[in-house]
Amino acid sequence: MSWRTLKVALVDPRLFSGIGNAYSDEILHRARLSPVKLTSRLTPEETEALLQATKDVLTGWTERLRAEVGEGFPNEGVTAFREGMAVHGRYKQPCPDCGAPVQRIVRGDHETNYCPRCQTGGKVLADRALSKLLKADWPRTLEELEERAPRRGPER
Ligand SMILES: [Zn+2]
Repeated sequence: MSWRTLKVALVDPRLFSGIGNAYSDEILHRARLSPVKLTSRLTPEETEALLQATKDVLTGWTERLRAEVGEGFPNEGVTAFREGMAVHGRYKQPCPDCGAPVQRIVRGDHETNYCPRCQTGGKVLADRALSKLLKADWPRTLEELEERAPRRGPER
């Protein structure tokens, strides 16, 4: 799985439980990491930043949602866009940290949002090249995702 992109790794329920599309965008923005960076290319510092950002974002949103719904259970999809997100669902709007317009990568019904200044060294990722790259990498359906679950067993 080392060839997977960060974005794909983050939304994979086999690796992280329940980080949806929206939160994965927020986490990568917080960590200042490109959604298409390959997991195998992470430096120890970047891995640390990613873990810290995951904690910060999930804790922050859990608290915010809890404050909003009180003791009730949120009846609204918590993976959807929510007011107050930094990049997710904010295509073309200014990044709250640097003001650069938020960019997007569309693949099927997934949209990945990122800030080119904070996350990709100013590079706007080419949508076409990217969808090619993600082709084999992005499960289109839940079924497909499950089919590709790794088989547990002794290493060869
Ligand atoms: Zn930014």
